[in-house]
Amino acid sequence: MMKTFQCSSLVPGCEWHTRAEEDAEIVRRVAEHLRTAHEEKIVRPNMVVEIKKRIKEERAA
Ligand SMILES: [Zn+2]
Repeated sequence: MMKTFQCSSLVPGCEWHTRAEEDAEIVRRVAEHLRTAHEEKIVRPNMVVEIKKRIKEERAA
């Protein structure tokens, strides 16, 4: 089951998105994106929760 994350769910207007099978991999990629694109230097524990809340399962069409 692939999962997806849209950055616009955290940062309105950002079109970046990612997909992976594991939540942990998505969180890792999102944390890196937030650091590089949005200058979020520290991903707080709270931010990980906020990211996980916004991960969506990708449904087969
Ligand atoms: Zn972004």
